[in-house]
Amino acid sequence: PEKREHSLQDIVIDTVQFMTSQANFNNVIITTDLCEPDLSLYIDSIQIKQVLINLIQNAFEAMPRGGQVDIRLSIHKELNMAMITIRDYGVGISEEQMNHVFNPFFTTKENGLGLGLSICYRIIENHGGSIQIKTPVGRGTQFTISLPISK
Ligand code: ADP
Ligand code: MG
Repeated sequence: PEKREHSLQDIVIDTVQFMTSQANFNNVIITTDLCEPDLSLYIDSIQIKQVLINLIQNAFEAMPRGGQVDIRLSIHKELNMAMITIRDYGVGISEEQMNHVFNPFFTTKENGLGLGLSICYRIIENHGGSIQIKTPVGRGTQFTISLPISK
């Protein structure tokens, strides 16, 4: 793993661009709200892109008829953390499932592997960050990733 300084905005823009044709194919519109100023993070950009791709892919799969994925960046000034929220308007996660979604091989999908979120968890932990989930059932799911901002 190769960590160095990257603009989080650049990483989000690259990832959304990479996912655009798949979004079109799935009838999904991706919106972005990238905060100012540029957020400089000491990260492995390939791994963080992998996390974003996994979460965006899950969002697509939660909305089989299409919909919208909102990606928003913000700063938690006191903690000096960058926050990335990825929100969908899909099926949501039940309270029972919530306890298992980060476990390797947990899946509710017919052809799911159940590895995406466990990989995301490990990558974010390895970057000194955390992942939180909010899911009002029937109103979609919101993942929030927190990552330390470089001084
Ligand atoms: P997979 O996508 O292969 O099932 P993941 O580790 O990516 O494996 O996700 C595990 C499980 O968490 C999914 O099967 C699903 O039940 C739940 N999940 C993850 N993301 C979402 C989401 N955005 N909306 C609803 N459920 C989700
Ligand atoms: Mg997945």
